[in-house]
Amino acid sequence: MKKDIKEKSMPVRVRFAPSPTGPLHVGGSRTALFNYLFAKKNNGKFILRIEDTDVKRSEQKWTDEIIEQLKWLGVQWDEGPDIGGDFGPYKQSQRLNIYKNYLEKFLVEDKAYYCFCSEEELESKRQEQMSRGLAPKYDGSCAHLSPEVVQKNLAEGKQSVIRFRVQNKKVKFTDLIRGEVEFDASLLGDIVIAKSLDNPLFHFAVVVDDFLMQISHVIRGEEHLPNTPRQILLQEALGFYHPIYAHLPLMLNADRSKLSKRQGDVAVADYHRQGYLPEALVNFMVLLGWNPGTEKELFTLAQLSKEFSIEKVQKAGAIFNIQRLEFLNGLYIREKPIEKLTKLCEPYLKEAGLLVAGQVSQNKLQEIIEVSKTRMKKLSDIVELSDLFFHDKPSYEKDLLKWSDMQDEDVKEALLLCDRILSDLKTWEIKNIEEALISGAGEFNKEKGYPEKNKGFLLWPLRAALSGKKTSPSPFEIAAIFGREKTLKRIQEAIKLL
Ligand code: GLU
Repeated sequence: MKKDIKEKSMPVRVRFAPSPTGPLHVGGSRTALFNYLFAKKNNGKFILRIEDTDVKRSEQKWTDEIIEQLKWLGVQWDEGPDIGGDFGPYKQSQRLNIYKNYLEKFLVEDKAYYCFCSEEELESKRQEQMSRGLAPKYDGSCAHLSPEVVQKNLAEGKQSVIRFRVQNKKVKFTDLIRGEVEFDASLLGDIVIAKSLDNPLFHFAVVVDDFLMQISHVIRGEEHLPNTPRQILLQEALGFYHPIYAHLPLMLNADRSKLSKRQGDVAVADYHRQGYLPEALVNFMVLLGWNPGTEKELFTLAQLSKEFSIEKVQKAGAIFNIQRLEFLNGLYIREKPIEKLTKLCEPYLKEAGLLVAGQVSQNKLQEIIEVSKTRMKKLSDIVELSDLFFHDKPSYEKDLLKWSDMQDEDVKEALLLCDRILSDLKTWEIKNIEEALISGAGEFNKEKGYPEKNKGFLLWPLRAALSGKKTSPSPFEIAAIFGREKTLKRIQEAIKLL
């Protein structure tokens, strides 16, 4: 009776099966990614199945969001609700008749039965069992009702659910990540698999779909581990083969607690909005549990499709380290061709009201992004890093202009010198600006008796005067972008403060 997938040597077909009850979380998208990579690596198919049988909690907007964010990440499925396929429909709410047939068959074969116990009765039994120190489980009150009683109760419209007769036995399976897993099913009691013929619950729908969609491997989060023995028992009772299971490690916060909203963002859409690049998020997520076994840390989706292997996924929880994500994101940002990066930054600058149509040329904008990108961790950082280029007049305290223990007079002298050097400069190009100012800084130090190598005495006041900020690109970069007129104007404004 027990069929094993290996005997059948099925083609690889895997699925990501989210319930559309909220936004797509990083945990979910990692599951999708690992399924996708497993399919790619094994020339298999990756299926998106929407598990929306819980009508109250499921919403179309979440299905739309899941699809949008997965597409953004580049995790593309071969079959799914939006593109169809040979095994559809791919939304469980459109498959209710299929589950109904199996439920009816199950009832006829007496592998499942109607249970009429009320919530109150069940609760008081649970309490009673616990007071005797027993683990609560269904006591089987309705397991052997006569067909007449069942018919009568149903005809009277008595509230009921459908329970699966769980055998008292040990369930064993080999998980690709966790190895041998054994579970004592006698602890379970008969489980509820449907609220009615038209309303199947999670386990039943999953088992039927995994079978009908010919899923070869079920790769999902560790939180589903306790569900697997239940689903294996259902597969046996239905005469289905068993897929091979792989349960991915939990994702943990730095303090090893379960990843949660409280400690930061968990929705993929939040990372998307803040300007994390899909390449960076994919690279980051794959390392949450998968260990390539080398020092290599940077992987594209295409490389991963070749290099990923489920055997190298660890059992231990994977720490979600936001600094690592920021680091990777910074790298991917800097790798982008400047035209593309500029396009990606534009919406953030527009939203902040900095970039107004027609005011800054595309070339100028690219120059601004180029000098700002070294310090970007995410695209939204561009606002803070580049606002100085868009403001007419920076506002800052005059003390910002001082380097080390300089007095107002010294700062003024420094700025006047900068003004002279830059006014005399023949060609306004960054190379010339830099050369002239560096040599000016040397002379200024000599004249004032400042340490020779410390160029800050000239360059800090200038940089502060131009940017109005504690940190910014170099004064050469800013001056080159500003142009002569605006640069000299900022210097004059600073001098007036002293
Ligand atoms: N629908 C389930 C969830 O969103 C996943 C089911 C499964 O992967 O077996 O958690």
